[in-house]
Amino acid sequence: MDRYFNLFSYCIPVRGCNRGVVCDLIRNMIQPVSLSVMDYLSATEPYLTLEEWSKGRTPLEIREVNEQINHLFQSEFGYFSNHPILPRQFSLDASDDESQITNAIVDLDVFSTHTLIELVPQLKELGCKALEVRIFYSLSFESLQELLHPLIDSGFEYIEVLVEHHPETKNDAYEILQHQIPGLRKITVSRANENTIYHRDSFILMYTTELIRNEAKCGVTGELYCVANVQLYQESLKHNNCLYKKISVDKYGYIKNCPSMNQSFGEVHSTRLMDALNHSKFRDYWHITKDQINVCKQCELRYVCQDCRAYRMDMDDIYSKPMKCRYNPLK
Ligand code: SF4
Repeated sequence: MDRYFNLFSYCIPVRGCNRGVVCDLIRNMIQPVSLSVMDYLSATEPYLTLEEWSKGRTPLEIREVNEQINHLFQSEFGYFSNHPILPRQFSLDASDDESQITNAIVDLDVFSTHTLIELVPQLKELGCKALEVRIFYSLSFESLQELLHPLIDSGFEYIEVLVEHHPETKNDAYEILQHQIPGLRKITVSRANENTIYHRDSFILMYTTELIRNEAKCGVTGELYCVANVQLYQESLKHNNCLYKKISVDKYGYIKNCPSMNQSFGEVHSTRLMDALNHSKFRDYWHITKDQINVCKQCELRYVCQDCRAYRMDMDDIYSKPMKCRYNPLK
């Protein structure tokens, strides 16, 4: 029997220059497909059965499309029907969050003179919901508790902490922090003895042997780091998915879009975060989407891949491909 293949509404096909992907935004899965499959999935009015679509195609193409469509079916990306079914649109029109800033990074090293005590109230004033604190040195558990103390009543919805391993701090201590600080969802411990991840409900404790003493480890992106997530997908369509509504304070106390960027909008002891945000150039990168970035705009992963404007292939071109991506969609 002739049959139509239909993707579920939350499974969205994205075409690149050499291949496509189907992004399942509910199960967070990404399935690569050939351009021939993209042609079939995107064919509308008339909707074609696989048999109709196969007319005039080479046997190789027909086999490839049948195999891949069958795989999409087996993996529950879609279903067959006996009649054409108008695709229902999955809503990707996110109502924009009213906050001026939604996420922030605060970096601290052993010489930093800024503290969370002065920054947390300013971030709350801007409506910030998610905070990442990166501590590029080792400190005792008591000192860590004291440093993070301003987060206890902060009300952030999501908090992530990176800290260097201290030989006397054990798993239990980090779990105490999780109980003390509402919203603390992840602690990454660098320079650990082994690479291990512990999950406790919605809390992640990750140990990595990597030594992380500055912001330069950031910006790694590419096909291995992609995630089909509704929020990332929505943001990627309209905004820069790394810098939109983000503010950062680097380890020297300079206010920036991202700690790895050169441009600063003032120093925290003399400039309020609100004033830095109102600088005429602060929002310059916010509207650079993946569809505008060289190479990425031809990549099938562009809506599920985190951008990076700090480390670019060509630092003179703000639309240049992220430097730390090793994937070449043109190949
Ligand atoms: S080419 Fe661009 S969109 Fe594609 S994986 Fe690399 S950084 Fe991501």
